[in-house]
Amino acid sequence: MGEGKLHWVVTLNRRNRALFFALLLPVLATHLVAIGAGPLMWSLLVLQLLAYPQLAYWRAARADSPLRAEMQNVLLDGVLLGAWMAVWGLPLWISFMLFIGVCLNVVIYMGVPSLWKGLLAIASGVAIVALAHGLAFQPQTSLATSVLCILLLTLYLVFFAQGAYGRGVSLRDSRRQLGERLDEITSLQALLQEQALRDPLTGLYNRRYLDQTLQQALDDCTRSDRPLSLVLIDIDRFKRINDTYGHPAGDEMIRQLGGLLTARVRDTGLVVCRYGGEEFLLMLPGTGLTTAAALAEELRRDFEALEVETGERTMRTTLSFGVSGFPAHPAHPQLLVRLADQALYQAKLGGRNRVVVSPGDETATAP
Ligand code: GH3
Ligand code: MG
Ligand code: MG
Repeated sequence: MGEGKLHWVVTLNRRNRALFFALLLPVLATHLVAIGAGPLMWSLLVLQLLAYPQLAYWRAARADSPLRAEMQNVLLDGVLLGAWMAVWGLPLWISFMLFIGVCLNVVIYMGVPSLWKGLLAIASGVAIVALAHGLAFQPQTSLATSVLCILLLTLYLVFFAQGAYGRGVSLRDSRRQLGERLDEITSLQALLQEQALRDPLTGLYNRRYLDQTLQQALDDCTRSDRPLSLVLIDIDRFKRINDTYGHPAGDEMIRQLGGLLTARVRDTGLVVCRYGGEEFLLMLPGTGLTTAAALAEELRRDFEALEVETGERTMRTTLSFGVSGFPAHPAHPQLLVRLADQALYQAKLGGRNRVVVSPGDETATAP
């Protein structure tokens, strides 16, 4: 397994174990000198402090679950260090330093509820040696060893505190970055939602918006006993505009019609949407059929008089309107749109440039 894929705890522990076991060597060497240790103890201790950290890493790196193997390594540290404590007769400062070191590691990686595992590991190390070899309690260490133990333990604690601080800082940073990203995503989402309901050419609402809101508007009106009208608008002979003046000029006419409709219904709570290519639909909650037809008639006259500039030339055409509405017609969204469409068809049949109010009999006028 490549190091890049290893769990961060495995790589971090490789460095920490190698570093602190190496630092233990001079500290424990003072004790070996003091007790006049033989070559076997020196060799074993050097192996323990310099070779074992590499073996432990090697084992974790090759395991199916490196993280689980590394947690076992942390407990194995406890067994081995417990054994060394017992070999020397549990010298107080050395045992305290090693004991705290193992407990800290266990708590940092496995939490306080697993502390018993660490204690058990140390106790097993002590017990194995005690059973095999007996245990002669020798709590004293030389002043040099005691001071070095205190220094190394301090260094170890500061080192871990620094690690915790660093993780706290990076956690705060990533929380802040996450918060910023979340804000970006939320506003982007709102923008996309808005864009999904808008027509890019005119900036008006699109058919999807109308489909989503008509039912709700009808429910509101039926509940409050208010009328609601639909006015469907189609540009007359628009193909000819495109053919004569070009598609961009046609676009300009669509934009200007959008502007005209918006200006007429601005601040009224009425909704203008671009329903299709050159078709627009007004949703007029609170407006009855007669008023809606009068509004359509006004718009028809305004547009008839509108001259749309395109380069050197001006274009003019007319609009046809189909009007339907509740309560004259049933409060059913698709039916109301269909009735307005049929009325529009009648306006086209009747010669265009006119407003037709749906009689409400949808079978009579089906296109
Ligand atoms: P009628 O009076 O019967 O409505 O005649 P019309 O020429 O308007 O007929 P029709 O509704 O069939 O044609 C609509 C044309 O509108 C066809 C299409 O090329 C054009 N059109 C649709 N969307 C756009 C657009 O976004 N820009 C432009 N320039 N043209 C469009
Ligand atoms: Mg059309
Ligand atoms: Mg048309």
